[in-house]
Amino acid sequence: MRVGIIGGGQLARMMALAGYPLGLDFDLLEPTADACGAAVVRHLAGDYDDADKLAELARDSDVVTYEFENVPVAGLTSISGQVPIFPPIDALSTAQDRLKEKRLFSALEIPTPVFIPVDSRSELEAAVKHCGLPAVVKTRRFGYDGKGQYVIRTEADIAEAWQGLEGQALIVEQFVAFQRELSIIAVRSTNGEEAFYPLSENTHREGILRVSVPRPQHPMTKLATDYARRLVEDLDYVGVLALELFEKDGELVANEFAPRVHNSGHWTIEGAQTSQFENHLRAILGLPLGSTELNDHAAMVNFIGDAPELPTLLEIPGVHAHIYGKAPRPGRKVGHATIRMPTEKGRNSSLTSLCELAGETPP
Ligand code: AMP
Repeated sequence: MRVGIIGGGQLARMMALAGYPLGLDFDLLEPTADACGAAVVRHLAGDYDDADKLAELARDSDVVTYEFENVPVAGLTSISGQVPIFPPIDALSTAQDRLKEKRLFSALEIPTPVFIPVDSRSELEAAVKHCGLPAVVKTRRFGYDGKGQYVIRTEADIAEAWQGLEGQALIVEQFVAFQRELSIIAVRSTNGEEAFYPLSENTHREGILRVSVPRPQHPMTKLATDYARRLVEDLDYVGVLALELFEKDGELVANEFAPRVHNSGHWTIEGAQTSQFENHLRAILGLPLGSTELNDHAAMVNFIGDAPELPTLLEIPGVHAHIYGKAPRPGRKVGHATIRMPTEKGRNSSLTSLCELAGETPP
């Protein structure tokens, strides 16, 4: 079976690496010649909305999927009569617009911060007044890794935020003074089979995910699973979906969902019986899902900007390196490493060493 992937970054690369043992073949549509996915997958060079290339991808694939949120919906729609596309286009277009996304959370009674759409400076001022300070203003579309957003702590911050974001459709949200950030990875197959991974606790710095640790004993696992289930069932979803949550005073508040494999699930490659990448492929191909149970004790640390020297990295007990083959650049995700250890104490000790090497703080 052939899977067409739109987007050629590390998520496409890891998806293909998970699919080869199943005997799957891949093509990826990606404009950048040296994209790290193209090192391991047959590469169709073209823009994500190139009609001819999309038609070629559709013709050669049994199913088409995508690895990032900003895939143009119109391009996908143009091939939707030719080939199954999963996750569904409706889920993608909802996730592309923070307003639609938050309205869906509300409709499904999944708690989310108070939110107000904003199109002008006076609406921004009124919305900040309504939400109270601090507030967060974000672009409705094309935000990622904390880009396209400002925290407004005093009324004086409104001017700078407006200057930075003017001209774009915006949303103002209540600032959530959370104790921690969590995510849950759900997977649902073409035949409706569902599975959920244990919660991940995620640490961000400068808007970028740094460290993820599975928390299988987390007391709010059932609630988070229930929220994720509502989402995937309402969207008639197929594939892996990540729901990002804030934990605040014993409650869970939904921030956003990603209709794709997710950085906070990278630990599943070694840390779960079936990785999120393999389960995504199983789901979109209608194959039985694999177990989402944990293997031992795991944790993941991202390498941002540059990766550590391999000899030093590989000295850490229980470490598994994933170096994406991307040129170093500030703020760029160039790799990650997972710790897998038989005891929690051993995991924590290796996680401390790994965090030190990557310049991060262990959670
Ligand atoms: P996002 O692009 O919405 O995922 O936001 C990136 C990061 O900004 C999140 O992981 C949080 O750390 C922080 N953040 C976003 N929205 C809020 C909010 N309403 N309250 C507090 N922190 C937020």
